[in-house]
Amino acid sequence: MRIVLLGAPGSGKGTQAVRLKSQLGVAHISTGDLLRAEVAAGTALGVKAKAVMEAGQLVSDDIMLGMLENRLAQPDAAGGFILDGYPRNLAQANALDALLVRIGQPLDMAVLLEVDNELLFQRLAGRAQAEGRKDDNPETVRERLRVYAAQTAPVVGYYRERGQLAALDGVGTLDEVYARIVAAVGARR
Ligand code: ADP
Repeated sequence: MRIVLLGAPGSGKGTQAVRLKSQLGVAHISTGDLLRAEVAAGTALGVKAKAVMEAGQLVSDDIMLGMLENRLAQPDAAGGFILDGYPRNLAQANALDALLVRIGQPLDMAVLLEVDNELLFQRLAGRAQAEGRKDDNPETVRERLRVYAAQTAPVVGYYRERGQLAALDGVGTLDEVYARIVAAVGARR
């Protein structure tokens, strides 16, 4: 299975992706994790990305596409993948389609976790206390939610128009939400 997981910051994408990856035996590709690894390693790319991430904005499409292409070329991605954090705007959605066609691995579906803004804000405030991620401070959280609404939300329509979207309620316990994802993915297998 080749799946794009969509949802705002705090929607639970990352947590659910980890579980789904084990169940499906595919690769979990989180572009946020890839970027944080570059930052931690102090690479040139990481140095560039750090300030952008801490401001809650999007790292450039060129950088992201190069990074994604490298990751998809690794052997574990050949058996399928869950993309978490990509695409984040329409240009990335188009670039992804072209890339996947080129490598002969077209997407099977996109799964959206829907959570309203107030709850997202609460969850991210909780995570800020628990994990201390630099981009979880209230000001940056607001900017990330704004960037999501302006740039990433249109990507939902992109997949809906192609008949590839499963829009799911992202509110509930982790198990409840996971069961909805498994049902939606099972229906397309
Ligand atoms: P969240 O979805 O919870 O905001 P992520 O870990 O997915 O967190 O991403 C953290 C940050 O990494 C984003 O705010 C953004 O700056 C950067 N980032 C991740 N994926 C992308 C992408 N596809 N395009 C541009 N920037 C990205």
